[in-house]
Amino acid sequence: MSLGNLYIISAPSGAGKSSLINALLADLPRSEVQLSISHTTRKPRPAEEEGVHYYFTNHDEFKSLIAKDHFLEWAEVFGNYYGTSLPMIERSLENGIDVFLDIDWQGARQIREKVSAVKTIFILPPSKAELEKRLIGRGQDSAETIAKRMAEAVSEMSHYNEFDYVIVNDDFQQALAELKSILIAERLKKGAQAERYQHLISQLLSE
Ligand code: 5GP
Repeated sequence: MSLGNLYIISAPSGAGKSSLINALLADLPRSEVQLSISHTTRKPRPAEEEGVHYYFTNHDEFKSLIAKDHFLEWAEVFGNYYGTSLPMIERSLENGIDVFLDIDWQGARQIREKVSAVKTIFILPPSKAELEKRLIGRGQDSAETIAKRMAEAVSEMSHYNEFDYVIVNDDFQQALAELKSILIAERLKKGAQAERYQHLISQLLSE
């Protein structure tokens, strides 16, 4: 069986990354694509569930997981710690399942150094005005927080050119189709196909 592909998907908050990932996961079976669930020291938001959105943990526990080499990468993002668990990812990739990591540019940098085959995708909003509109539309932040999030978004977006693929999320369905087309094209790469169709290829090439 061929190995699954490891993907990183990054974006400033408000670009629609979570909605795109959720729609992708809803369309494809879990035997094909999974989302890695990170650990974080951030407090859960009202709708968030343990083991679904994150594994919520405290600083001491997080530090002991770092010491045990549990993380493929970890980073401090806006004052909280976030880390990607290695064991689950390894298991899925070995079973031929594609794994998505929803992490920031710092995590992407660390993983690129360790896993050369990682494929990275950056999601951009169609404009600053639209990004601000989406942040305000969530209705959960004060004007001051929105201004802070806009500044953080600009800083996050300045790293877009470190990524392999860039998707502008203007029309959601188009952005989703573009995201799927990346997965499909990557699965059609010669190396993966040669492994998948070993038998067929050897038959086709026999005299
Ligand atoms: P939020 O707190 O809004 O869920 O996430 C804040 C930021 O942390 C997002 O940019 C998200 O992609 C990033 N993030 C989430 N999990 C991880 C992780 O395991 N590692 C890193 N480096 N960043 C993460």
